[in-house]
Amino acid sequence: MMLPLNTETAQSLARRLLELQTAYAQGRPLVPDLEYDRLFDELKAWEEANPTLRLSWSPTQRVGSDLSADFPEFRHTVPVLSLDKAYAPSEVFVWLDKTAKLTNQVLTLTAEQKMDGLSLVLYYKEGILERAVTRGDGTTGNEVTANVKTLATVPLRLSRPLTMAVRGEVFLPKSDFARLNAELAEPYANPRNLAAGTLRRVKSAEVARVPLRIFVYEAFVAGPAGSVPSTHRQALELLASEGFPLNPHLGVFTPDQRPELEAFVAAQTALRPTLEWEIDGLVFKVDDLALRDELGATGHHPRWALAFKFESPQAQTVVEEITVQVGRTGRVTPVAKVKPAQVGGTTVTFITLHNRDYIETLGLGLGDEVAISRRGDVIPAVEEVLERHSEMVWPFPETCPDCTSTLELRGAHHFCPNPVCPAQVKGKLAFFVGRGQMDMESLGPETLEVLVAQGLVSDVADLFTCDFDRLLGVPGFGDKKIAALKEGVALARTRPYATVLASLGVPDLGKKLVELLLNAGILSFDGLVETLRERPASLLEVHGIGPKTIETLGTELLTPAVLDLAARLKAAGLAFDAPPPAAAASAALAGTTWCVTGSFAAFNPRSLAEEEIVKRSGKVVSAVSGKTTHLLAGTGAGSKLEKALALGVKVVSEEEFVTLLNEEGIV
Ligand code: AMP
Ligand code: ZN
Repeated sequence: MMLPLNTETAQSLARRLLELQTAYAQGRPLVPDLEYDRLFDELKAWEEANPTLRLSWSPTQRVGSDLSADFPEFRHTVPVLSLDKAYAPSEVFVWLDKTAKLTNQVLTLTAEQKMDGLSLVLYYKEGILERAVTRGDGTTGNEVTANVKTLATVPLRLSRPLTMAVRGEVFLPKSDFARLNAELAEPYANPRNLAAGTLRRVKSAEVARVPLRIFVYEAFVAGPAGSVPSTHRQALELLASEGFPLNPHLGVFTPDQRPELEAFVAAQTALRPTLEWEIDGLVFKVDDLALRDELGATGHHPRWALAFKFESPQAQTVVEEITVQVGRTGRVTPVAKVKPAQVGGTTVTFITLHNRDYIETLGLGLGDEVAISRRGDVIPAVEEVLERHSEMVWPFPETCPDCTSTLELRGAHHFCPNPVCPAQVKGKLAFFVGRGQMDMESLGPETLEVLVAQGLVSDVADLFTCDFDRLLGVPGFGDKKIAALKEGVALARTRPYATVLASLGVPDLGKKLVELLLNAGILSFDGLVETLRERPASLLEVHGIGPKTIETLGTELLTPAVLDLAARLKAAGLAFDAPPPAAAASAALAGTTWCVTGSFAAFNPRSLAEEEIVKRSGKVVSAVSGKTTHLLAGTGAGSKLEKALALGVKVVSEEEFVTLLNEEGIV
């Protein structure tokens, strides 16, 4: 019989148990199971008697609890971005050359398997696992700490007091998936979905029953240079030395080892079906961490990494027609229309052909029989011409199909140089009002078409000065439609600065970059312009912004066209600065999505109510959908109210809303 535990001995017992757990998880148990269970029960009994003294990293947390945990949101310290993609080793080399040129350095690359699981970030503070957060939208994820603690191989406490963010991928081995899924009434489509479903269980004890695993592949360690890893390989070694599970497949390539890199790709492609876990490609990364910082990221992906995706299923079909589309930047994209064909479960009819070089390299002409695929299992692509039926390669047009201006070649792409080209105008408008940007749902493509054709709107700022009543009488434009248009415009005036800025369509200036700028304290458009003009180098201090981004911003944002547009939108009442962080009213409505309908006594016009919601970090939409959480219904509420009731959306009266605003609570 041992002595009763005290705070100190309980702590060393906890530490001992963690070691035993790790050893066990690594397949080399140090003590008999019975002995382990005895020690474990002893600690558990002590914790039950002294609940306030229980350590957050206690090994007893691994078995989970029956308490219902919900998943609060947590904002990532470094955004979790996507990866740029390649589909052939040759594309990896093109990327490698480009990256070497950007840095002026000889680059050593690492290569890892791209795990097809769920990405997770483990935050450690002074050696203790503080929280585990899902990728979420890349900026904000859900805290699933209690559930992740049930994964036996995740260290709850490190041997050193490190403060770091560790990234990894949670997965369920194929064989476990097959076994578990067979027992389920509603089986999951793949291991990834089952793992995702498990990680979101409210009871961590249920999570503990599913043998989820994790491989970690990235560590952001805080500390002065010299004390933290300076290469990716060192970071991986540090993780391994702390007992984190790492994927055993790692390649390292110096610039002269291209044949070795190709051989690695071939070997991994062959290994794929034999692995115990699912992978969908390989990830190549720049090894030197200082170079990574220098390279930075676009809003979408880091410039220091590249995913090589494995081949996707192919099909055979015939090219019936090739047309060109003119985008909002004037870029001309040829698109093939093919005889509809099934590829990996979906029907493909339209396929982008990218640019003239792409067509010429393929040697593609009308009527040719081609092999098509869906790259990365998503984007349809023409892979090769199987049988030529055409007399010649399709001749790329010399003029814009929309305005007949002579096209200009810039880099690999042709552009229509005419700034008032109708296709470009429509493209810019569609982007601005689109979902994820200003969300002006009443302005669909056909409506925009009419507005442009009627000469009412020739750029984005015109939307805010346009007299929509002049549309009365045009087929399809009754009182109701016109009211909806006005409402859409009023709603746009309530959108926050971040949304407005990301909707301008300035290259590279997407949501992620906007967010980085705001977090860096650049809270207004004027401030941004001034920074770019007076001290662009100061932006280098912002984590995630590199020299390339700053250069692009400088050339694309500081143009008379963009500055003039911004000035007109600002004059039209759109937000061109963000409230200083302290003054932001509150986040009481964060995560809620509201639709506002009917009329109100205290909020007239009703955009006043919408402003109150936005001020409290709620989102406002103009139609009720499955994503709407609340409907604010005033007098005369009609179809939206019915739809809300049908969908089970919470309906809030004006009175309740006012109370809510006063209390700052959430309904
Ligand atoms: P994607 O979302 O397809 O652009 O790919 C980015 C995601 O790949 C990341 O967020 C990770 O979840 C995942 N991933 C899987 N394995 C790795 C790896 N070895 N290194 C980096 N990311 C990986
Ligand atoms: Zn044109």
